[in-house]
Amino acid sequence: MLVSMKKSFDEERRKLVEKLIHEGILKSQSVIRAMLTVPRELFVPYKYRELAYIDAPLPTLEGQTISAPHMVAIICELLMLDVGMKVLEVGGGSGYHAAVCAEIVAPKDIPREKWGHVYTIERIPALVEFARENLRRCGYDDRVDVVLGDGTLGYEEAAPYDRIFVTAAAPSIPKPLIDQLKDGGRIVIPIGGSFYQELIVGLKKGDELLTFSAGGCVFVPLIGKYGWKEY
Ligand code: SAM
Repeated sequence: MLVSMKKSFDEERRKLVEKLIHEGILKSQSVIRAMLTVPRELFVPYKYRELAYIDAPLPTLEGQTISAPHMVAIICELLMLDVGMKVLEVGGGSGYHAAVCAEIVAPKDIPREKWGHVYTIERIPALVEFARENLRRCGYDDRVDVVLGDGTLGYEEAAPYDRIFVTAAAPSIPKPLIDQLKDGGRIVIPIGGSFYQELIVGLKKGDELLTFSAGGCVFVPLIGKYGWKEY
């Protein structure tokens, strides 16, 4: 009899999602389903695979990180994503967070013409390749485009967006991102210094951006024209 030696992470993924529900972080069915579906173990470097379902950030490449699952959940809940939306992520990293968003805006069980799309920008070429490979292997390359560039400039080519989120810490909200957000759209972005930031939610109403803080957080710096300078 042949016995598969390939480890399944399904049980660990389910337990983590249950913990996030219990903590009141995961609330909506669409985000819960997405986090139950996307295999985080295939978005972390191979040597960290066994740690994929601890609720913590993990190293990716070149000193960067994949965000902790609770932070992915918090941002997805704050974004209020829906089927068919066009989403821009700044800070693509491993591609994991983009895949979770793609599961929500473009679920495979609805007709393709109703799918939304996710664009994710990353400034480090090695991470762009890493994200593209992870997304291809997990079947998200038809719903997520990974772009190399300075995400503080946004991605004009596909603008305007229903939702924009940033997974690196900025000194303030980059103006191009506000400009590329649709009227009625939402942006989620960590704003603050090196060691502590506030997770800011912005709602665009005409020429105004109404903002509130959803609490404290810690992210790696957003480096670019409208972010921090290179160190
Ligand atoms: N969302 C990612 C994931 O799911 O793996 C994790 C993102 S990591 C916390 C932040 C990322 O932002 C890093 O990979 C970093 O290189 C990237 N970054 C920093 N400044 C950037 C910029 N101006 N444009 C695009 N990416 C940037």
